[in-house]
This record gives sequence, C-alpha cells and structure tokens, in this order.
Amino acid sequence: MKIAVVGTGYVGLVSGTCFAETGVDVTCVDIDENKVEKMQNGVVPIYEPGLELLFHRNIEQGRLHFTTSLEEGIKDAEVIFLALPTPPGADGAADLKYVLQVADQLGHILDHYAVIVDKSTVPVGTGEKVQAAIAANAKVDFDVVSNPEFLREGVAVDDFMKPDRVVIGSTSEKAAKIMDRLYHPLVRSGNPIIHMDLRSAELTKYAANSFLATKITFMNEIANMCELLGADVDLVRKGIGTDSRIGKRFLFAGIGYGGSCFPKDVSALAMSAGEVDYDFRILKAVMDVNHGQKTKLISKVSQYFDGDLKGKKIALWGLAFKPETDDIREAPALYNIEALLEAGAKVVAYDPEAMENVQGVLGDKITFAKDAYTALEGADALMIMTEWQLFRTPNFEKIRTSLNNPAIFDGRNLYDVNDMRQQGFYYVSIGREVAK
Ligand code: NAD
Repeated sequence: MKIAVVGTGYVGLVSGTCFAETGVDVTCVDIDENKVEKMQNGVVPIYEPGLELLFHRNIEQGRLHFTTSLEEGIKDAEVIFLALPTPPGADGAADLKYVLQVADQLGHILDHYAVIVDKSTVPVGTGEKVQAAIAANAKVDFDVVSNPEFLREGVAVDDFMKPDRVVIGSTSEKAAKIMDRLYHPLVRSGNPIIHMDLRSAELTKYAANSFLATKITFMNEIANMCELLGADVDLVRKGIGTDSRIGKRFLFAGIGYGGSCFPKDVSALAMSAGEVDYDFRILKAVMDVNHGQKTKLISKVSQYFDGDLKGKKIALWGLAFKPETDDIREAPALYNIEALLEAGAKVVAYDPEAMENVQGVLGDKITFAKDAYTALEGADALMIMTEWQLFRTPNFEKIRTSLNNPAIFDGRNLYDVNDMRQQGFYYVSIGREVAK
C-alpha cells in the first residue's frame, strides 16, 4: 500500500512514520523546504519521544520519503492524508486556507482514484468544501473521508500505534474499506474503528477536545474555590476521581491549558455554534476562566515582593505547554513571561526541550540557562510552569542556597505543601494552602 501525508508537522510526521512502521510506503509532503531538507538528511524536526527510532528505521528500510512536491508525493498513493494547520483566524474560527489550497491543487493533479483524508481538525462542513474544491477540476473519481486525530504530543507515537479508537467519517463503502485496511494493524487489541458520517466525525474531534478543556477548567475553578475556602484541591481531586463516572484523568489543577489544540479548538467550536445561532455558553466560560488561570500566579509573586516586581529576577522552570514536547504554542509560560516583563522583572528560563523555540519568538528578551539549577543563581524567586519529570524531585537544598529568597510559585502542584513548609520555603501552588 502506498500513501501520502501532506503537512509534516506533529501530526503528519508521527502519522506518516507510524504507518510506515506497519509496512506501508509513505511519502510525506511539506512546503517548508528547510524542514524537508532536514528530514531528507535524517534529522527529526520536532521533539517527540520514541519518534526518532521509528523515523530512522523506516527511512533505512526505504518506506519513508520526504518531498516538497505535492505531485511527486501523491504519485500512486491510494490514500492522501491532509495533516495541515488549521490555526485560529482573527475571529477565532478555524482558518481553512491551508486545507482548501491543497484540496484545490489536488483537483488539478490527481490522476488516479484516491481517498483524500482530512486529518486536520476542521469545522463541520469542511469535508464537503474539500470535496467541492477537488471536484471543481478533478478528472478522476475520489472520496473524501474525515479521520480526526486524537494523539497527544509527548506520547504521540504510543497514542498513534495504540489508539483508544479510530474515527472514520465517510459515506463511501470503498473508502471505508481502504481506511480499515490501513488502520487494522493499530487496533489488533480490540479497540474500535468507529464508522460514522463525515459531519459527525468532524464534530467528534471538537467535542472531545472541548470536553477535556472543560474538565480541566472545572477543576481549576474548584482549585480557586479551595483557596478561598481553605480546602485542598489535591484531596478533592482524589475524592472525586475515584468515582468511575468521573475518572482520575484530566483533574489536575494548574495554570490552565495551552498548546496548539485546546485553545483553538474550543474557540473554533464556539464560533461554529455562533454560525448556527447557538449560544454555547459553557465554552465561553471555559475560555474566560482559562485566560485568567494562566497568569494567576503573577499577582501572588507580585504580592510576595510588596507589589513591585521592577528589577526582580525570576527563574522559570518549564516553557513548553506540557512536558515531553518542544511545542510552545499557547504555552502558559509565554503569558507569564509577558506579564513579568511588563511588570519590569527579568526572566531567566530553563526547559529541557523548548528553549530554542522560545528563543525564536522572544529573542534576547529573556535569558536561558544551561540547566535547571543555573537558572536559579541570583534569582529572587522560582516559578514552575511545566511539569517535566526532571522538576519533580529536585535538590531542594540547592534550590534554597541558589535563590536570593526561598520562594517557589508552582503552577503545577509538584511538591507537598507540608514538606515545603518544613524545608523553610515560601511555597505557593494552585488550590492549596500557602506554605510560609
Ligand atoms: P504543524 O503546524 O505542526 O504542522 C503542519 C505542517 O503543514 C507544517 O510542517 C507546515 O509547513 C505544513 N504545511 C502548511 N501548508 C502546507 C502545504 N500547502 N503543503 C504542504 N505542507 C504544508 O501542525 P500539527 O500540530 O501537526 O497540526 C495539524 C492539524 O492536526 C491541525 O488541524 C491540528 O489541529 C490537528 N491536530 C493536532 C494535534 C497535535 O497534538 N499537534 C493533535 C490532533 C490534531
């Protein structure tokens, strides 16, 4: 089987590499010449655990190829995945220009039957637009399928190789069969391939991400209540998470969700609702609460310094929007950096994987440390933005002696409050008592 993946980012590269691992011949297409050149030279352009091994193996075995030419990439491909960006437009709705541009190009160059698979997260009705854009010029038969992707950055390879479920939205039996054949190796343990119509598949992805964003946000609101009522959000979390109807996952309070998906998908679903005159009130509240949550710690840092952050040097641990990725899109750390700089503070940051990306955005507005402890030297306080494993059991003695003040503002609730009190730290976390 030969397939093409158009758009070789976090989703496209992981999908392409994982399909190659099942024996399929995969060509990844991207317009970014630098990226393609890197991949052709055997360099993985993103950080994703476990990807490198599969990437090299499949290149060596001749099943994974890269090109900037769409025409070359789709040659003889039975399935053509679109894993293209769908960023928020100025109004918060998903911008479909990348997807529709490629659809239009496909109409001109497609010379054989193929299943065109929309893997990008797109609003309901996009499949029909893709169909129309290709059909406007196509001289051959084709089918359009929606196959939303549920992988999580940081564990993307595992998620892709062993998905909880695969959703396929299509009304064509022929296309559905081809998709089943492609996905069969990934669902051998019995997880389902769920077939549905195109519109339901498109909405499924937005519903999943918006539900998860709502779950996190609900817990953040409970955390905010805990602070006001003298309760502990970690205990409440355990108390409710053991209820199987609620479940243990996605209940961790913190400084809000970020990343390339939740913020834009919640916003896009709210916009889609507006377009059909539906007022999706929960989503508006979720966006509003999350916005405030991201920089919630800043006022507490400021309070610690009697309202004046001017000239204070703040060490930041973690820049990526979550651990095990170098992705900084919508990362809470960026919002905190902006607020700190605005208040006149200086920032020195450390992240195991995301510093290069942040440097690309912020240049020399902040400084970067070579390791976690160097970041603390001469700093007035430590803020924790990302729950990298590396930060979970640090050398507290070293933290205390490196910092000018033993003050930690932890946006991810990594440490035990009593333990921190005993160790003499001023320790502020989310939804828990302040240790003084
Ligand atoms: P990304 O920005 O990492 O990758 C997109 C790639 O497409 C880039 O490499 C870009 O150069 C390329 N591209 C842009 N225009 C192109 C064109 N005309 N031809 C060929 N390549 C082109 O994006 P991503 O994070 O992989 O997300 C892709 C889609 O998948 C989005 O709709 C996103 O919402 C969805 N999604 C993402 C995740 C995730 O965790 N990142 C998970 C599930 C779904």
